[in-house]
Amino acid sequence: MENERKTLDDRAKMTELERIRHSCAHVMATAILRLWPDAQFAAGPPVESGFYYDVDLKHRIAPDDFPAIEAEMKKEIKANNVFEKIIVTREQAMKDSESGRLGGLTERPGNPSKFKLGNLEAIPEGEPISYYKNGDFIDLCAGPHVMRTGNIGAFKLTSVAAAYYKGDEKGPQLQRIYGTAFKNKTQLDEYFKMLEEAKRRDHRKIGAEMGLFAIDTEYVGPGLPLWLPRGTAIVEELEKLAKETEFAAGYVRVKTPHIAKEKLYLTSGHLPVLYKESMFPAMSLLEEQDRARSEQLTRRKFAIVDDLLKLKSGPATADPERVKELEREAFEIALEQDALGEKYYLKAMNCPHHHRIFAAEPRSYRDLPLRLAEYGCNYRYEQSGELFGLMRVRSLNMNDAHIYCTEDQFAAEFNAVNEMYLKYFKIFGFEKYVMRFSTHDPARLTGDNAKFVNQPELWKQTEDMVRNTLKNSGINYVEVPNEAAFYGPKIDVQVWSVIGREFTLATNQVDFAVPARFGLTYRDKDNSNKTPLCIHRAPLGTHERFIGFLIEHYAGNFPLWLAPDQVRVITLNDDEALINYAKPIVHELRANFVRVDSDFSATPFKAKIADAEQQRVHTMLVIGGRDLEAGAVSVRLHGKGNIGARPKGEVVADILAAIKERRA
Ligand SMILES: [Zn+2]
Ligand SMILES: [Zn+2]
Repeated sequence: MENERKTLDDRAKMTELERIRHSCAHVMATAILRLWPDAQFAAGPPVESGFYYDVDLKHRIAPDDFPAIEAEMKKEIKANNVFEKIIVTREQAMKDSESGRLGGLTERPGNPSKFKLGNLEAIPEGEPISYYKNGDFIDLCAGPHVMRTGNIGAFKLTSVAAAYYKGDEKGPQLQRIYGTAFKNKTQLDEYFKMLEEAKRRDHRKIGAEMGLFAIDTEYVGPGLPLWLPRGTAIVEELEKLAKETEFAAGYVRVKTPHIAKEKLYLTSGHLPVLYKESMFPAMSLLEEQDRARSEQLTRRKFAIVDDLLKLKSGPATADPERVKELEREAFEIALEQDALGEKYYLKAMNCPHHHRIFAAEPRSYRDLPLRLAEYGCNYRYEQSGELFGLMRVRSLNMNDAHIYCTEDQFAAEFNAVNEMYLKYFKIFGFEKYVMRFSTHDPARLTGDNAKFVNQPELWKQTEDMVRNTLKNSGINYVEVPNEAAFYGPKIDVQVWSVIGREFTLATNQVDFAVPARFGLTYRDKDNSNKTPLCIHRAPLGTHERFIGFLIEHYAGNFPLWLAPDQVRVITLNDDEALINYAKPIVHELRANFVRVDSDFSATPFKAKIADAEQQRVHTMLVIGGRDLEAGAVSVRLHGKGNIGARPKGEVVADILAAIKERRA
């Protein structure tokens, strides 16, 4: 959460780039104060792609003001002022807040540093209180910073938005000024070039151009993408890849319904509280055998109401015992009717269903590891303002699987999952990746702010297992404390697209708590019942997000195996001999499940090619008189042009091989 206070530990971990950016926020505040001395600053942290500072100011800062602010910032950077750390007492800090000195260039009588005062109060007793000073600007800040303002290599202000103090909508509205900063100008330029390229590759734009998906807000609903035929071709290729890969790795496939009773999620712990806000509201269902009973109860209820009315409006001698009796009956009827309806939920995750599949048959150690795989369709409630193309949706088709194993099997299973990731990275040409290994916080196992299941030994044991597996496999990983799932350590897999944009592909989780909640056991060699460990994994994430990412990664120019339009056979003109030569080629490709079509029309040849190029047809097989005579076809690749004529048998064989091998 952006508004959560950073601990001193978090701060110590700030990277060099984050220090540059946070320092740049101070420099921006310095500049704004030179232009508008009454400005009051709230929070100015580094964020994923830069920094911001929240400011309270009568003047509405607009992008038109950026050049003036940037010019002042440049002066401050050129002055190369030291970021000086000053430790103060709480009393001193209180005094300086009241005089308006904090987040200011001078004392400002009558204009106290009200937000700094609030920030000061949030600093726990006993934690040191420090200022950072550059030139005349003094800020209440725990740091860290770069040495001097001159260490900020290059920066740019990017946007302004509305924000609330500490994220509280009831609090004062502030202006949030965003900017970004880098070590040098080259990196800054590269960043903006990447953003420009990302805009050109926007998955919503390319998706519409290619006819991959549609979001029908009016009739189907926001965040519920419809896969059009071309998009479905990609969906099915990805499923095929996952199914083949998982089959080879010893997974078995299962299928589960999209809904389940409330009891399932009460058992898993997702309900009543933990996950409720991410789930669609419950549906109430009355089974038909209960419907008659329910109607009977309703009729009886009306009869009771009638009787009660008669009794109460009748002579005062009405039997009070009888009234009480009827009221008790009405109450019991209400209870029974309530119990007749059953609550169902759309599934927001597949695990609980899979756990019930594990429980469906007695399991022995011989059955383990049991790897249950499913392309499960999940529904999650996201706020409408959060929805974004395929990237943030409400229906998700997940490349899911749950691996139930013994402790002895864990390392090998976990390693195999990681290997599967690496295999996928290769196929899709992801060259840069990192696995973020999140562990628990031993201080939060018990007490009011407990966040993790209280099983200290299991935490240690599983975290050690994961850490060792990662170390031994030579996989690129970083360790992130305190961010595990409540039921076990997890790994977030991050990849970078060819244009250098970061993307969270998927999460692997170790689960040592939920199988126990479900009472899952297997019979071990010694005849005792043991609880299995469970690994949750989804290397290809969801179709929605993954394809959204792939569209940007490939700029819509998918490799042959994934391309919605793989091959088009195009004749030079509508000459019958050419058409007769071309037709069997189309048939042969189609018989081999290649997505192929043809253009034998009399349209000018150049226009036919332009058409195919525009539709991003991967391979164009062009046939003219010379090809016919030589028993050849001329091959043209989308975006690459003509690569020459070759014997037609060879070309067909090569196309089939490229698809089968999933060549890049
Ligand atoms: Zn600072
Ligand atoms: Zn799961």
